[in-house]
Amino acid sequence: MPLDKYREKRDFTISPEPSGDKTRKSPSGRKPRFFCVQKHLASHLHYDFRLEHNGVLLSWAVPKGPALDPTIKRLAMHVEDHPIEYGEFEGVIPEGYGAGIVMLWDRGTWTPETDDVEAALKKGDLKFTLDGYKLKGSWVLVRTKGPYAGSSGDGRSWLLIKHKDDWSGAVDIAEFAPLSVKSEGDFADILSQDNPDVWRSNRPAKGGDTGALFERIIRQAQSLKAQSSKSSKSSKGSKSSEKSSARAARPKRART
Ligand code: MN
Repeated sequence: MPLDKYREKRDFTISPEPSGDKTRKSPSGRKPRFFCVQKHLASHLHYDFRLEHNGVLLSWAVPKGPALDPTIKRLAMHVEDHPIEYGEFEGVIPEGYGAGIVMLWDRGTWTPETDDVEAALKKGDLKFTLDGYKLKGSWVLVRTKGPYAGSSGDGRSWLLIKHKDDWSGAVDIAEFAPLSVKSEGDFADILSQDNPDVWRSNRPAKGGDTGALFERIIRQAQSLKAQSSKSSKSSKGSKSSEKSSARAARPKRART
């Protein structure tokens, strides 16, 4: 079964992630179908790149996130298929596999630039067009055994590369458009909607940059939560309009 690995790794009595009971017949050929990117702050920050195919989400973990610059090749580790419903998931995984915060960073449709996705995956060369809020235009995923930092040599290492077109350019999209396309918030906002104290005793990462990032986000979330319970009547007008513009900002024709 395609989702066995996904389910084995998770305890759905603890994790709010979907168990993947719903099925859907995905479009075939060169028709558009769902894609998303989730920004996932776990033991390390990474971006999970997911393409709908045959009723599941094919998934790659991209440590540095997608880059719009065609000269930048981003390592993408092929990971287990995820259920279709995962594509709308955003929230806090309190413990266990993937413990941390998941933000829905981009979503939209992808269209294969080939008639046979299965053959392209087998070959290790999948070309496609994205139509998301943040990511657009032509891309390729290429399987590699090459000498890239972090490549595993077991066939799981791919590279995610932007093709040169109207949607490529030098903009650092992760920095330029860091927020959620679902809630429009950042990690602290997402955590403050849940329980900011969740990792008081056992944080997903304690040391280094990631530990410091968690520390900061937990403190921000705690203060956001305290503010909202203190004055639930008060408007958050200016803040949310700032966020909307950050989300809406698109690197249109950012070519240099
Ligand atoms: Mn992940």
